[in-house]
Amino acid sequence: LRANFSVIQKETGFVNGLIAVLHDITEQEKINEERREFVANVSHELRTPLTSMRSYLEALAEGAWQDAEIAPKFLEVTRTETERMIRLVNDLLQLSKMDSTDYILTKEWVNFVDFFHRIIDRLEMTKEQNVTFKRELPKQAIFVEIDADKLTQVLYNIISNAMKYSPEGGQITFSIKEQEDHIIVSISDEGMGIPKENIGKIFTRFYRVDKARSRKLGGTGLGLAIAKEMVNAHGGTIWAVSEEGKGTEISFTLPYDVAEEDEWS
Ligand code: ADP
Repeated sequence: LRANFSVIQKETGFVNGLIAVLHDITEQEKINEERREFVANVSHELRTPLTSMRSYLEALAEGAWQDAEIAPKFLEVTRTETERMIRLVNDLLQLSKMDSTDYILTKEWVNFVDFFHRIIDRLEMTKEQNVTFKRELPKQAIFVEIDADKLTQVLYNIISNAMKYSPEGGQITFSIKEQEDHIIVSISDEGMGIPKENIGKIFTRFYRVDKARSRKLGGTGLGLAIAKEMVNAHGGTIWAVSEEGKGTEISFTLPYDVAEEDEWS
């Protein structure tokens, strides 16, 4: 806390007042510190793929381009690094949009069960890993008011993690539970899990349990931070339950009004 004092003095020199202005510098300091850390993180995240690309490009320029076996491999590395950087920059733009004060959601009424099915269908068709999808979704419609693009991104980020961290042949289960004034959407996997001491941090920007592994899998460390901000913007909360070696379940809530639901039927 910082205090500025001004003395109110009359022309006669007589002091008849004192103004104290108190600034909460701890709050300001915290924001500055977070900003510095964020810029350092972004720089680091960009520098890593760039230095790696430089080495591969140097090797190519120095003659590797003539090697019919090595050249395509080196080019492939530079391509995947470029793709990761594009993902990173897109994620950063997404976060920066959400940070701005005029951030608004474009909400519409959506049957969340159909919506969830469509997203799972899309990922099921394009998946490259050997994982099975199990749907524990209600038969009846559940109408919620959401920004469909944002929720697509939330689900995509969570499900792609579940796939990334799943073992060969693992199962991913999707469920929706109806509560009185909210629904709980859960995605669980049979993957490596998250150590107890790290679980509270996975929704923090750039936090990863295993940096090298996340990078190798093409991660940016921003997926869950984005998901959290989007869920919060909808008035919901998000959390993780995990057991190391057994699997992880990510769940989030969305406000839901049973009374309003009746108007639809
Ligand atoms: P990343 O791009 O690294 O996946 P995220 O923000 O999506 O970044 O996730 C943050 C970290 O949380 C990941 O690096 C990983 O360590 C952990 N994590 C997220 N989802 C899972 C999961 N389903 N199983 C195990 N670990 C996970």
